[in-house]
Amino acid sequence: MPLTVVWFRQDLRIYDCEPLLRASRRGQVIPIYIFERSLLHHPEACSAQIAFTLDCLKALDIDLQKLGGRLILRSGNPIEILPNLIAETQAEGIYAHTDCDRIYCRVRDAKINAALTERQMKIRWFEPSASIDELSAYPKYREKWYEDMNEAIAPPPQRIVVPDNVASEKIPTLEELGHQRDGKIIPEGGTEPARSLLREFFDNKAESYYWRLSYPSAEATTGLSPYIKVGAISIRECVQFAKAFTKDPDFRIRRSSQQLISRLRWGSGFHQRFRYMPQLELRSLYAIFDDEGWEFDLALYQQWQQGLTGFPIVDAAARCLLATGGWKELNFRSRAIYSSFLSNLLGMDWRYGALHFMQHLLDGDCAIDHYQWAMQAGVTHCVDKSWTRIYNPGEVAIARCDPEGKFIKRWLPELSEVPTEKLGGNLQIFGYPAPMLDYKQARQKRVKQLERQRSGFRNQENVLPYLARMPEFPIPFARQDFSEGADWFSDRIQ
Ligand SMILES: Cc1cc2nc3c(=O)[nH]c(=O)nc-3n(C[C@H](O)[C@H](O)[C@H](O)COP(=O)(O)OP(=O)(O)OC[C@H]3O[C@@H](n4cnc5c(N)ncnc54)[C@H](O)[C@@H]3O)c2cc1C
Repeated sequence: MPLTVVWFRQDLRIYDCEPLLRASRRGQVIPIYIFERSLLHHPEACSAQIAFTLDCLKALDIDLQKLGGRLILRSGNPIEILPNLIAETQAEGIYAHTDCDRIYCRVRDAKINAALTERQMKIRWFEPSASIDELSAYPKYREKWYEDMNEAIAPPPQRIVVPDNVASEKIPTLEELGHQRDGKIIPEGGTEPARSLLREFFDNKAESYYWRLSYPSAEATTGLSPYIKVGAISIRECVQFAKAFTKDPDFRIRRSSQQLISRLRWGSGFHQRFRYMPQLELRSLYAIFDDEGWEFDLALYQQWQQGLTGFPIVDAAARCLLATGGWKELNFRSRAIYSSFLSNLLGMDWRYGALHFMQHLLDGDCAIDHYQWAMQAGVTHCVDKSWTRIYNPGEVAIARCDPEGKFIKRWLPELSEVPTEKLGGNLQIFGYPAPMLDYKQARQKRVKQLERQRSGFRNQENVLPYLARMPEFPIPFARQDFSEGADWFSDRIQ
């Protein structure tokens, strides 16, 4: 009977998983997950996300067992592990989804192609849902995205037969993977908890999602992001579930489900950009924004990280991120205000901010995070002035996303007695830090800088020559500051 290795990466599910379904229809399967040192010790690795992934792997193993199979675990370098596994088991080849998440992943997969070809072994790549294998302008991608979302969801295999003699490592603890728990609460992993969130959303939240999604204290959003990140649920499944509600008799539910579908599309769009412009992991979209250099002040950066800027909405976001990993509460608006503060008002390189987010976000996703950071910093646009989007972190931001001060008071208990209308002012008399900058001055400085940088190529018909190029050595940003990752580059990517 044919035997196929199915390599799970960011698709930890049995539903809507084409490689698993196709392999199981051919014959026996070796469903494998590999713990890769280069990812576990990447400067952006997040202990809480790794703990969540471990939970999702346990759930995947249970789902596979229900179908008669089991998950095989290995640790090390896939470029060695996979060809050796094929040789040991006489498998016919490997099935896997493509993974364009990071430059590292793409280089790894190219090396695997080469290593397998050298030994006359085969791998077949499948496109994950929402990923289109051609470079196209966004309107065309958008069209294709909707077409792809309408495709039937691949059912789970009827049965999975794994050969008895294939050994698996035990599921490791977080500590065995070189990480420590940092107090963040980890949601239950797996497909079923993700589906419950989706159901709960349409039972209880969809009436108000569209109108309240910018209020962090409302917890109005789905909370699906960590599950989508590891692929415990597919985007197609979420979209098809939501689509049923776009015809709901209640206008509010129709509006919210459309909004949810759009947001899911945005996330896919960032991945698509990374697929064709992987340099966005390390660069602003246009070279000029990085060429001039950025400011950096370690003390101010640390104050921003710890939530000691003297701006309550920014500090509440900072502390929420550190305490929870942003899951559920740290919504788009609060992430945007928090990030804009670092790169626009403090003038610091957005990549330092993206790094901090990735180290703490439970849903940290390189393509979404890095591009969102770059967008908030204003370095993805060259033409339109309106893309200088700098949030006023005082009264304006509070009025727009925390008018009752609930989010601020939850994360800054020292301000619990401050009247809400005073939260946008100077709160030193309450023992809270003085604002670390003057908003108007900082804003003016940044607007001028962006204007100057953009003026060099603003009305050019062809902006392609101004795009940032892939660096010769695609070293993870700030690797030098993280000694535990020091051998990451030298032994992985040349
Ligand atoms: C600076 C910054 C960094 C961010 N980093 C990440 C990240 O690392 N990972 C991540 O998943 N999201 C990121 N976001 C986008 C957004 O804040 C989160 O997707 C959202 O808060 C997740 O909560 P949810 O699943 O409850 O959202 P919901 O509103 O329920 O959305 C459902 C899904 O749609 C997608 N989505 C929603 N909003 C956006 C958006 N603005 N951009 C792209 N996709 C979106 C996500 O997959 C999300 O899980 C970032 C936003 C900013 C401003």
